[in-house]
Amino acid sequence: MQLAKTIVIKPTMNCNLRCGYCYEFIRNGTTYCKEAMDVNQLTEIVWRIAKLFPDSKILWMFHGGEPLLQGAEYLEKFCDCIRNVNKTYPVDYKIALQTNATLLSDKCISILVKNADLLSERIISVSIDGPKEINDITRHFISGKSPFDEIENAIYRVKESELVFSTISVVGTHNVNNPEDVYSYLRKLGANLCKFVPNYNSDMNGNPESYGIRPMNFAHFMCEIFDLWMHDLPNQNDDNKMIIDPIASIICSLTNSVVTWCEYREEKCSNFTCIYPNGEMWLCDNFIHETMKDIAYVKNIFEVSDEELKTSLLTLSKVCSFDAFYDMAMGRCKDCDIYEYCKGGCLPTHNEMFKKSKDLYDEYCESKKMLINHIKRGVDLALS
Ligand code: SF4
Ligand code: SF4
Repeated sequence: MQLAKTIVIKPTMNCNLRCGYCYEFIRNGTTYCKEAMDVNQLTEIVWRIAKLFPDSKILWMFHGGEPLLQGAEYLEKFCDCIRNVNKTYPVDYKIALQTNATLLSDKCISILVKNADLLSERIISVSIDGPKEINDITRHFISGKSPFDEIENAIYRVKESELVFSTISVVGTHNVNNPEDVYSYLRKLGANLCKFVPNYNSDMNGNPESYGIRPMNFAHFMCEIFDLWMHDLPNQNDDNKMIIDPIASIICSLTNSVVTWCEYREEKCSNFTCIYPNGEMWLCDNFIHETMKDIAYVKNIFEVSDEELKTSLLTLSKVCSFDAFYDMAMGRCKDCDIYEYCKGGCLPTHNEMFKKSKDLYDEYCESKKMLINHIKRGVDLALS
């Protein structure tokens, strides 16, 4: 049977930065999974899955921690492996890279340029939250020093190559009140895809902590970003156009086009698998390891037989109790008048809010409605 999915591969959970809101450290602790995945273990996983599913289509997302901590040679061996597997089996394997960019050396860039045909849409995805004065508030090296100059420098070197870059920006207390500064900086930087993800870190009662914000803060921020983007649209052409998520996902939902972001898709987590350095397979790294193991932990890839691995990858959501979790969490959305466009959001986030505080969960839905309706009005106006 054909397997089409994204596999997030985490060669290490370690990172050379200590961002104030980092979910890996906050959710799963500094001690979770200290070991790193040896490059031979990584390439064996790729070969093994290709052999089990010779017609599979997989996006291998190189993620962490910071995956480039493993070094340029590791990256090169990973790219070589994907190329050789593509030649040996009728599979369609691509690579994506998510990095903080501080270790994106010329050597790494030249490896990626050499393998540009394997990179999904030739994109390197860089985490950056806005201009220096904003980024420096939360994103810093372990020593406390600012990594901003290294990040910006790496982005400019990527721009000089034949690769393109996208950005992922966390929206928290450090930038939520500065949408104009964030928008104009990212626009000037020239990313072709900018993704904004809210930081909903909160305590047991749902009170924001570690730069966390409330759902309505995020909705207001995204509404402003949408207005700035709409205003700026006449200045955009094929060479400098800027796609922004979740705006693009919401517009696709409103116009019945294909949506790629899982939060806005009915399937949710079932197209994902996240493999940790110790071989643990989870549906996604958004699940909290301490409390959600029964919902989203699949198996350890280093401990299962080929037959078990095959069954697990084909029936991921049945190996854990995700299906029941999905029905329970999505049941709340049954009668919602914007379900068609919202699709319930990110399930663990949605569910954590529900568990922590009814007010918070109600606000989550209110924020979804506000943002979707705001974008809908803008789109209707533009089309009228
Ligand atoms: S947990 Fe959230 S981010 Fe991860 S796949 Fe599921 S919906 Fe997407
Ligand atoms: S707004 Fe709330 S109830 Fe409605 S679909 Fe979204 S998450 Fe579900």
